[in-house]
Amino acid sequence: MNIKDNLLHIQENIEQACKRSNRSADAVSIIAVTKYVSVETAKEAIAAGVHHIGENRDDGLLKKREEIGDEPTWHFIGSLQTRKVKNIIDKVDYIHSLDRISLAEEIHKRASGKIKCFIQVNVSGEESKHGMIPEQLEPFIKELEQFPSIEVVGLMTMAPFTEDKNIIRESFQLLRRLRDDVQALDLLYAPCSELSMGMSNDYEIAIEEGATFIRIGTSLVGKEF
Ligand SMILES: *Cc1c(COP(=O)(O)O)cnc(C)c1O
Repeated sequence: MNIKDNLLHIQENIEQACKRSNRSADAVSIIAVTKYVSVETAKEAIAAGVHHIGENRDDGLLKKREEIGDEPTWHFIGSLQTRKVKNIIDKVDYIHSLDRISLAEEIHKRASGKIKCFIQVNVSGEESKHGMIPEQLEPFIKELEQFPSIEVVGLMTMAPFTEDKNIIRESFQLLRRLRDDVQALDLLYAPCSELSMGMSNDYEIAIEEGATFIRIGTSLVGKEF
């Protein structure tokens, strides 16, 4: 795995996708997802120029952050059990998986300042996927007003498991429309300007549809375990 080469290749693809969709490449941030690689490999990604690291388990995040420090921006991208909130709350810059009120309550209770959260939406309706159904989103966001530590920075999704690029594209388009609807509510605690969507296999489509954070694991840092 040559991470530097992988990163250059991905950055080139990002530029092309941004050109196709009339966007500035600066508007897209790469989160290196390091859940399947060692601390050393994560450090290599940072040395290659990555500024954002994503982990999906509390133990993985804590271990890496302990050794790497707080230079990169830390993203918690996995489904988050309520009882794990206290372990990570002071160690992350963004949580991408807010999907229920009990979790919002716990985040608010444990937070010592504002916590930037993405609301995870299940755009595909696949039962295996976490996140709320689109119809629940607006009432959910309104309920969050009671938890002032939570700042809704955007929406997050995982595309359906399919080879069909049109279905993947439609799911990203739906997330973008939902994001626009939330923005139109003009809520101070929910600026909701970001879209966390796109992984190794579909990030170019995600960028064409407006992604501002893409979460890349395998094609950037590989898979060691
Ligand atoms: C693992 C993971 C990714 C990265 O997946 P790759 O296909 O390896 O790029 C992105 N987002 C979430 C939520 C993940 O769990």
